Amino acid sequence: MALIKVDLYDEIEMKKPHPCIHKSHRFQVVMLGADLKLQCQGCGNIVLISRIKFNQKFKKHIASHETIIFTK
Ligand SMILES: [Zn+2]
Repeated sequence: MALIKVDLYDEIEMKKPHPCIHKSHRFQVVMLGADLKLQCQGCGNIVLISRIKFNQKFKKHIASHETIIFTK
């Protein structure tokens, strides 16, 4: 299984939406470590996810903190 490289504050898209009313697939990485903390870009809540689950649910990279692209 390939390791997914993400940096702090990267914006990413997950395969499954956050189970909030916004159903957002977009998250921002707010903590990196053995576990990751992702902030839902819909509701702003932060979810804790293990590296293994993150690797399974990661879909694509949207933007790094150096080149933030606003698509709204
Ligand atoms: Zn949410």
